[in-house]
Amino acid sequence: QYPLLQVKHLKTYYPVKGGFFRRTIGNVKAVDDLSFEIEKGETLGLVGESGCGKSTAGRSIIRLMNATDGQVLFEGRDITKLNGKSLQAVRQDIQMIFQDPYASLNPMQMVGSIIGEPIKNYRKASGPSIKNEVLDLLNKVGLPDDAYFKYAHEFSGGQRQRIGIARALALKPKLIIADEPVSALDVSVQSQVLNLLKELQKEFNLTFLFIAHDLSVVKHMSDRIGVMYLGSMAEIADRNNLYSQPLHPYTKALISAIPIPDPRWKKERIILKGDVPSPFNPPAGCPFHPRCPEARPECSQLKPALKEVKPGHKVACHLY
Ligand code: SF4
Ligand code: MG
Repeated sequence: QYPLLQVKHLKTYYPVKGGFFRRTIGNVKAVDDLSFEIEKGETLGLVGESGCGKSTAGRSIIRLMNATDGQVLFEGRDITKLNGKSLQAVRQDIQMIFQDPYASLNPMQMVGSIIGEPIKNYRKASGPSIKNEVLDLLNKVGLPDDAYFKYAHEFSGGQRQRIGIARALALKPKLIIADEPVSALDVSVQSQVLNLLKELQKEFNLTFLFIAHDLSVVKHMSDRIGVMYLGSMAEIADRNNLYSQPLHPYTKALISAIPIPDPRWKKERIILKGDVPSPFNPPAGCPFHPRCPEARPECSQLKPALKEVKPGHKVACHLY
């Protein structure tokens, strides 16, 4: 029995052009040797600052972008080189929910056809059965029947994201990649949308890759959490272990920055120096070494491999 998804040493580089002749002068290493697995039915939270490559990783898995190297195994089968019909079949099984629901919905199309179109195109269903299915999906995501004949601009941000979720569900996917699905929404509606995703996960037996830029959003969503830094995995563990016993100095800093509701319970905030370096020309050795409060001499020389230091808890750091 394979994990539903296995990402092995994934690399996605973009060429950068420059100079008078616009020649390729190097690569942005957006995803640089990323590995992780997701078991069926679980939610893996993938966290990191903007530019760490988490969205590029999601897009490479679903083949909206082509990986430069490495493997993505879905149900044990490498999908990085598929094309034509076999790629279409996998695209049905893996769906994406985007950060900006408005930008991902066609403004000229009624909601009924936005959600119905994938059913028509991929599943070759027809007429009345599609409409019934769409109404059922609207109902499942908490929208009224008359949403069917409306346009995306007639809805609030939270409702638009519900439309995006209904569209993703229309193909009965096995895996949903949610790329910051609530970060464009008002705080007051964020938890409603997150709760909806959790309910739908139970009802449809979904597996989630849940991408977010901060640890507080993924906390209630995820079974396991992976922390990315400059294109690769710094640490990955069960949610509780990650929050209670973070090992990587970067994870420790992120956790120290989560506000605590009770001010009597004081904790030391770890302030990191500098910004995330550019993935064009990333630092040698450990990618975190220019900012790491615990860096040692070898850290600027040798890139640490991701290794399991406790059951299910992996970290890429020379301290372990
Ligand atoms: Fe810090 Fe070194 Fe560990 Fe990198 S390998 S996180 S620089 S201690
Ligand atoms: Mg992003």
